[in-house]
Amino acid sequence: MTNSEANSQPASADSNFLPGPVLLLGAPGVGKGTQAQLLVSTFGIPQISTGDILRSNIAQGTALGKSAKSLMDQGQLVSDDLVNQMVADRLTQPDTTRGYILDGFPRTLNQATWVDSHLAANGTTLPIVAISILVDYDVLLHRITGRRICPVCKTIYNVFSNPPKTPDLCDNEGAALTQRPDDTEAVFTERMRTFNAQTAPVVEHYRNQGRFQEVDGDQSVESVTTAIQQALKTLRNQ
Ligand code: AMP
Repeated sequence: MTNSEANSQPASADSNFLPGPVLLLGAPGVGKGTQAQLLVSTFGIPQISTGDILRSNIAQGTALGKSAKSLMDQGQLVSDDLVNQMVADRLTQPDTTRGYILDGFPRTLNQATWVDSHLAANGTTLPIVAISILVDYDVLLHRITGRRICPVCKTIYNVFSNPPKTPDLCDNEGAALTQRPDDTEAVFTERMRTFNAQTAPVVEHYRNQGRFQEVDGDQSVESVTTAIQQALKTLRNQ
């Protein structure tokens, strides 16, 4: 099961708050996935990660996965039409009515204008709000190239900042840790170039719409979560 499918977690303290559609924006490695998962359990709304849906398709050997794999391995973007359709399908599911967290989408201006008009056409109750997570380039490089994942329990480690007790083995069940094929320095450099060329304009698009906040992503996971929750509540009370 992918993160984006593991969504039906119970809402906790903040279940009365109506988050609506929330975009988490930021360069590769800023922590969008980690923060999205925490917002899932706080607000009881699903995370929709286009990267996770694509990886799930690759793992299942679908036609979609086969056409996406080589682009993803090179740090390039999959076509807008393909990901827009994936998101359109996901948004038909009933767990999205109170809101959802878009993680890794939209990544191009074309995707942003598509999702804006798709939601307007489908009469979404609340407008999109966007939260951009900021982290310096050098910090991101370490985060990405040091990232290791347990294939069994999905725990995420970092060989620089959060290593397992025994190198390369999961603390929980001793499984050999894996590295995403796109977590190398060469692919990171390409992904940053893609981000600056194609996704930075998406950040400006939402900034110009006014329903936008920035948070500092170079602090503890808990502090970033608190900052995002505050930003979200500020945006929804506007
Ligand atoms: P992520 O897990 O979000 O970092 O995504 C991993 C890879 O999946 C990206 O480098 C792209 O190749 C592809 N991908 C994910 N989301 C999108 C998107 N919204 N548009 C195009 N390609 C995407």
